[in-house]
Amino acid sequence: MNVGLATIYYQLPAGLQNVFLSTYGLYLQKIRHGQRYRNFCRQVNGHLALSKGELAEIQWQGFCKLLADSRKYVPYYRKTLKDISAPEVKCLDDLRKLPLLEKEVLRASPETLVDERYEKKKLLVVHTTGTTGTPLKIYCTPDVRKKNYAFYNRFLQQAGIDYSGKRATFGGRIIVPHGQKKPPFWRHSYFQKNILFSSYHLTEKNIPSYITALRKIRPEYIDTYPSSLFTLAKYAVQQGISLKGISKAIVTSAETLFPEQRKIIEDVFDAQIFDQYGAAEMCVFLGQCAHGSYHVHSDYAIIEFLREDGSRAAPGEEAEVVCTGLINSVMPLIRYRIGDQAVLSDRECECGSHFPVVEKIIGRADDVILTPDGRRIGRLSPVLKGFPVKEAQYRQKVIDEIDVLLVKDQGFSIDTEKNIIIELKKRMGDTIKITIEYVEVIEREKGGKLKSIISEL
Ligand SMILES: [Zn+2]
Repeated sequence: MNVGLATIYYQLPAGLQNVFLSTYGLYLQKIRHGQRYRNFCRQVNGHLALSKGELAEIQWQGFCKLLADSRKYVPYYRKTLKDISAPEVKCLDDLRKLPLLEKEVLRASPETLVDERYEKKKLLVVHTTGTTGTPLKIYCTPDVRKKNYAFYNRFLQQAGIDYSGKRATFGGRIIVPHGQKKPPFWRHSYFQKNILFSSYHLTEKNIPSYITALRKIRPEYIDTYPSSLFTLAKYAVQQGISLKGISKAIVTSAETLFPEQRKIIEDVFDAQIFDQYGAAEMCVFLGQCAHGSYHVHSDYAIIEFLREDGSRAAPGEEAEVVCTGLINSVMPLIRYRIGDQAVLSDRECECGSHFPVVEKIIGRADDVILTPDGRRIGRLSPVLKGFPVKEAQYRQKVIDEIDVLLVKDQGFSIDTEKNIIIELKKRMGDTIKITIEYVEVIEREKGGKLKSIISEL
């Protein structure tokens, strides 16, 4: 939704906001209809029946075409790839002969990455903050969006979710005005069968109305940022409320899903979480199958797992994720450093999928605290386990200091603070100065994401 439309939307009463969202939803829904969309779905669903070798061939052919077109028609690659001749790239291993694409190029001069056969004015532009909070502009066509949806629907189907059913969404959009004190804290997009819940009104006072609404709606699945549904689930646990039977499945994305969040949400809803890791840059797609494994959808993108020296990491090693998207030929991203890390696995999943398995997606590369003794600490969620804290954020501006922003929960005392500091020092050492600051809410990033660590180092 552009700024003009958003301004109109916020001035409408709730009933008209529903009409507005539904009309806008109808426009979005159009992308998911028509013969071309159905063809894409058939095509990508058909890949599931292919052998490992056949999938590899599809990926390789897709890449060869992308590379050839990029060299010819994309100004950025015409320049950066001019010294590498086509025959030098004969297999996936040869990808490392090609330069890495930094996010800064995408941020500062996205136009240089657009295939010049397309007229920029006629292209769709997707605005994103990326996984690291950098504002980016991605050019594509309606066909690319259709393809993207076809992959997403395949992921839902594999998870056993009927995507034509009702959906409840907790995302980053401001759906309900900030100052609204009374329910409904949700709006309807009728044609998309989507009920959009506000992630910004989840206070103890308001949560009961969310639960009542969810019980009434009983969505086929809940599509959510982990932190939003976690807030609701934690409240339910504290109050001894079961959310069983509300929904069969939960899809999480956009933020790192921590093990503690997964456990509490799955327990209280008695539903399985299917975590999805993707990017608006359309250059990576990982999704959990019914067996809980994260699969790399290798017909969507080529994902390299690299060590710091640029060599290929072995399964089990923490590695940088470098992506080459295969679906957006309008703006090809070849060897794009997305800024995330993951661990590749060499095991086959019991689900029978030939897509490679990723053992885990580690906290984003930017989301780490650096300690004076040179350690990088990326996973701080266990620190607060069991403490009466609603939300937390760690901010680091200098190497020997961190600020911890906390939203207190009931039962928080001076002892709690002392114990949290003890736990933090256990991980960070004694030389780092820890300052705790109490806040009512933690400010979200652009796009509504809650970043657990903000580092300015
Ligand atoms: Zn699997």
